[in-house]
Amino acid sequence: MAEATIKRVCVIGAGTMGAGIAAQIANAGVPVLLLDIAPKDGDNRNAIAEGAVKKMLKTDPAPFMGKRPAKLVETGNIEDDLGKVAECDWVVEAIIERLDIKQNLYAKLEEVRKDGTAVSSNTSTIPLEQLTDGRSDSFKRDFLITHFFNPPRYMRLIELVAGPKTNPDTLEMVREFVDRKLGKTPVDAEDSPGFIANRIGTFWIQQAVNSAFDMGMTVEEVDEIGGKPMGVPKTGIFGLIDLIGIDLMPHLMKSLTSTLPKDDWYQKIARSEPLIEEMIESGYTGRKGKGGFYTMEKGEDGKRTKMAKDLKSGEYRAAARPGLVYGSAAKGDLGKLISMKGKVGEYAWSVLGPTLSYAASIVPEATATVVGVDDAMKLGYNWKTGPFEMIDNIGAAKLVERLEADDLPVPEILKMAGDRSFYRIEDGKRQYLGTDGEYHDIERAEGVLLLEDIKLSSKPIMANGSAALWDIGDGVVALEFTGKMNALDEQVMKLIQKAIPVVKKDYKAFVVYNEGSNFSAGANLGLAMFALNIAAWSEVEKSIKGGQDAYKALKYAPFPVVSAPAGMALGGGCEICLNSDAIQSHAETYIGLVECGVGIIPGWGGCGEFISRWKDNKRHPAGPMPAVSKAFETISTATVAKSAAEAKELGFLRSDDGITMNRDRLLYDAKQRALAMVDGYTAPEKLEYRLPGPSGKAALELAVDSFHKQGKATAHDVTVAGELAYVLTGGDTDITEIVTEAEMLKLERDAFMRLIRNPKTQARIEHMLETGKPLRN
Ligand code: NAD
Repeated sequence: MAEATIKRVCVIGAGTMGAGIAAQIANAGVPVLLLDIAPKDGDNRNAIAEGAVKKMLKTDPAPFMGKRPAKLVETGNIEDDLGKVAECDWVVEAIIERLDIKQNLYAKLEEVRKDGTAVSSNTSTIPLEQLTDGRSDSFKRDFLITHFFNPPRYMRLIELVAGPKTNPDTLEMVREFVDRKLGKTPVDAEDSPGFIANRIGTFWIQQAVNSAFDMGMTVEEVDEIGGKPMGVPKTGIFGLIDLIGIDLMPHLMKSLTSTLPKDDWYQKIARSEPLIEEMIESGYTGRKGKGGFYTMEKGEDGKRTKMAKDLKSGEYRAAARPGLVYGSAAKGDLGKLISMKGKVGEYAWSVLGPTLSYAASIVPEATATVVGVDDAMKLGYNWKTGPFEMIDNIGAAKLVERLEADDLPVPEILKMAGDRSFYRIEDGKRQYLGTDGEYHDIERAEGVLLLEDIKLSSKPIMANGSAALWDIGDGVVALEFTGKMNALDEQVMKLIQKAIPVVKKDYKAFVVYNEGSNFSAGANLGLAMFALNIAAWSEVEKSIKGGQDAYKALKYAPFPVVSAPAGMALGGGCEICLNSDAIQSHAETYIGLVECGVGIIPGWGGCGEFISRWKDNKRHPAGPMPAVSKAFETISTATVAKSAAEAKELGFLRSDDGITMNRDRLLYDAKQRALAMVDGYTAPEKLEYRLPGPSGKAALELAVDSFHKQGKATAHDVTVAGELAYVLTGGDTDITEIVTEAEMLKLERDAFMRLIRNPKTQARIEHMLETGKPLRN
């Protein structure tokens, strides 16, 4: 395997994509030069690239993962700074989609780049062959297409297209970099129009819109059927078009119709709707414009109502729940969905039939395997399952039967599959059906370890309704949360306690990890509410104590514990991380102690652990008060880090905790980190604190009072903050006394119990359960 040798990158074109790609490279800690054209007017020749960086610092969702990455972006312009390309190992071209302008730039690049520097284009539509036309062999050897998806930080797909002359080492160097450093999943695509995801995605959207107009459907009906039941994004079709911009549709259509062969199926379905043209002309281009197929309208009473476009009259009307009935097809059985009588089944088939057939027809023309197609649609268009997984859900033979009955094309690969499925499990390994008619193992790259794979070939060491313990090899176990939304409850704590002696006896190290979209959003509030409703106070206290005991038992167990969060790690999910020896975090981790939002305080050791993080922080002033103030500020405002990098800035992660950019590499990295700690491991010493006591509490409360007076904090915020201040300052202690960890835990518990009995806290919890949003009472 080629060593990743990319140490410095140049991105040319500081528009939507170029700027976002540069930000992601900087997020990986790699210096990047961002160039655009020098503007005709004004003194600042770097104004465009500089403006792009400034704009990104204000964009939400943020392209940068923290404050530091932005400093790694150097800006410039192609007239004065192109020579600096000689210092770069990779040049990403993301300029305007025009062949002549791209070719012109490559001619200039040829003069300045050093041999071996990779050059790639982010083009969506122009064939590689045309891009490199007229260039030297040496340039062609280092050239490829790297097709990122928008927004580059958040979309995991990258399509890689190599030409016949591309040097395999250059391709591998870029592949390694985009995978390990940028956290993307590279999918190899052929040099064919639209590559994989946009080719299928554009067809799918077009077919869905055509059918909606032809069948007289409402946008809500289309989005409901196209959303959850089909497993495509929950926005549905029209919601998705609003999100990406309605004006993008004619562009995609134009580029695909002009590049695809005349007999391609897409040519037959490509059509524009007068209503959509009119919307674009009048600025109704979706969320970024005046509105789209949906919009929010403010009534005279100030209330906002969701409106939907009536596809017949073109007018907005209040959005309505379609009230469609799915029966047994609601559970994700696509075969049942497309066979349903009436408009649900008819519409579903009118979209899925052609789309699945079309998707199947582009293997191997657009990509070698069915896995490439499925990965592209899941990672590039957020489909829950890929086209071939959907075909397996229906059954290839059944799909063929229905396609034939409807006189729709039946691609070769479907005929070849016959009554076989495209995926199967064989000897504990997932396999796919190749175009050669044989099954092949799905190979994982070196350094990729997935619980999903481990589960195929083993059973958990132990499990209950909320957690499971897995043997992940080399003497390491992984604790997985398995409850609904990975909520934490007594069962999780019981499993931790039960696991400790087993791990102590038979294993070496412990990892906390799961493959849910969120690590854990914290304690099961529903259960808490149930206990509150029947005033089962002793039960509540028992569950707080149980959580503290389990987390501390894990912390002081005689083996290393590494938590590996990804996605949200909130409340109790954050506290298990804080109680671990180390954290190996996915870059996209949103961690925080959010308890105050529901009127309580962290109760599973989070208060004490969080102070100690700040106390140990060498870049932070010493002494008890600065650490306490910092912890108070962060916890009382329920601040959540928006990335692992920001989690370091906020103190949830230590500076030496690890960050993994690629989600699929997280478990492997966490396991390696845990194994590295095994030799000579001793459990950490019990925490002890010197805390400021009542005088410190008074100082913290002063700030809250001032927020209250300014109307920025409610009366109950003041109460909750007061309890938090009491705990963090050590209760009735003073600086000369030592507060033990057990005393801190008791303070935490007592304050928690006082707050949970407060009706205003209960109202907050109830509101959160009902609406998913915090109540400001
Ligand atoms: P954009 O219009 O937002 O930005 C293009 C930038 O290129 C502008 O800042 C422009 O000033 C600059 N530019 C033009 N000519 C230049 C030159 N000769 N040298 C340097 N800079 C020059 O476009 P975008 O959406 O970022 O698209 C860029 C590329 O990425 C295109 O090839 C497009 O097909 C592709 N792409 C776009 C998306 C998307 O969703 N927008 C997704 C994938 C790929």
